[in-house]
Amino acid sequence: MSEVNNSMTNTVGKHAVVIGASVAGMLAARVLSEHFDHVTLIERDVLPDEVKSRKGVPQAQHAHAILAKGMETMGNLFPGLMKELENDGAVVMDFASTVRWFHYGSYKAAFQGTVSSIGESRPLLDSKLRARVAAIPNVEIKQACSINGLATSADHSRITGVILQSDAPGGKDTVLNADIVVDASGRGSRSPQWLDGLGYGKPEESEVRVNVGYTSRVYRRKAGDVPAGSSVLYVLPAAPVEKRGGVVIPIEGDRWLVTLFGYFNDHAPTDDKGFCEFARSLASPDIYNLVSQAEPLSECAVYKVPSSLRRHYEKMNHFPEGYLVMGDAVCSFNPIFGQGMTVASREANALGNVLKTRRSLSGLSRAFYKQAVQTINTAWMLATGEDFRYPETEGVKPFYTNLLNKYTLAVHHASARDTRVYGAFIDVMNMLKPPTVLFAPDIVWRVLRANKATQQQPETNRQPVTITTPAR
Ligand SMILES: Cc1cc2nc3c(=O)[nH]c(=O)nc-3n(C[C@H](O)[C@H](O)[C@H](O)COP(=O)(O)OP(=O)(O)OC[C@H]3O[C@@H](n4cnc5c(N)ncnc54)[C@H](O)[C@@H]3O)c2cc1C
Repeated sequence: MSEVNNSMTNTVGKHAVVIGASVAGMLAARVLSEHFDHVTLIERDVLPDEVKSRKGVPQAQHAHAILAKGMETMGNLFPGLMKELENDGAVVMDFASTVRWFHYGSYKAAFQGTVSSIGESRPLLDSKLRARVAAIPNVEIKQACSINGLATSADHSRITGVILQSDAPGGKDTVLNADIVVDASGRGSRSPQWLDGLGYGKPEESEVRVNVGYTSRVYRRKAGDVPAGSSVLYVLPAAPVEKRGGVVIPIEGDRWLVTLFGYFNDHAPTDDKGFCEFARSLASPDIYNLVSQAEPLSECAVYKVPSSLRRHYEKMNHFPEGYLVMGDAVCSFNPIFGQGMTVASREANALGNVLKTRRSLSGLSRAFYKQAVQTINTAWMLATGEDFRYPETEGVKPFYTNLLNKYTLAVHHASARDTRVYGAFIDVMNMLKPPTVLFAPDIVWRVLRANKATQQQPETNRQPVTITTPAR
């Protein structure tokens, strides 16, 4: 059942402004369009008419997975979106049977499941979202326009609009009034500085430093490039020893998008030979087998992610009315776990939920952060927990992390043998179910049983040995 109603539900204001027309901004604009007479989505870049990446979203050149919960949420906001992507060459697949996933010395135990995954380039997704948002009658997209600050009431208690930077040299900035302003301007958001300047202070930050580097390249896709039955190749490093991994996803135009990554500045080179050699050094030969024979169609693109970074707006004692921060501007994750867009979609859903129940905007931000923080907490725990397996990771490690990691390592090992355990893990990583499902008695028992079997047969199990087929 759709979580978000398409028709105008209740109107709580005349004008909403969203800063940033990437995923978080577009999803926010979609939700706000149900509750405001007019929504203005403001983007610094000139937005491309065709499917291509742009300056403000440079990460779009790298593999972008939409987790199943994100697909579901985006599909509720834009019915038929996934079909539209598929019609344009995106590849829809069954996660459990087609993702060939190597981790901790074994392949996961593939089985026919019910959780879908989709492979497409990020620019294709963005172009489809943009077209859908542009078609909403009360949404206006203002491009090539940068926001320079916030307009406020005299006592600073309420944000009353945004300051549009003039594009003429020496020109005067102008104010665009709004009942609510949503900052979706990404990790580089200036909300901390703006709020500080208004006397609210900066939000407390949590940062977990991993210095991950992505190097990505596009290849022609042909039948037989990957082992039969697989559509995605996923090789994760066995922490704390291995630091390199990679992912290959099918994208539109019969192409593969190959992303190689490394922790702690051990990044893949951008030249032909170096890229191939890095792929050869991974724990599974799958990605090397592909890149060593497939035809490259692009140069290598590079992106460096120093850390997962979270700004705790939910903990601020004082916050102005008429203002919200969403998406990467609140929390940007180590991208290896593919969570950012799904978290942004859940935040948009949370915004829709809180707006639906109100007649005014008073107290909106607190109600929003209270809901949104639940998704952020889970995603943060999953991503940073895995990163804390490395002694080189810098950041404040919660006291329970080592114990949790011991159990999740056992879950990883069991996922190579037991499809019920792997199925539960797929549900959790796709944010369809809470991590607590991994602690259900039958799963714990299966995890222990599979690990005992592994200990009795210590040599690396490189092909799946399936213990059971789940009743799902
Ligand atoms: C290498 C990499 C790989 C990733 N892989 C995945 C993945 O597999 N799956 C996943 O779900 N997520 C992934 N992510 C995260 C994902 O890219 C983001 O979560 C997603 O783009 C949503 O971010 P956002 O919309 O909040 O901000 P952004 O995407 O950063 O967009 C911010 C927008 O605001 C605009 N802007 C900035 N400042 C201003 C201003 N002052 N005025 C006007 N406009 C402004 C920018 O031009 C831009 O359009 C990855 C990230 C990286 C870095």
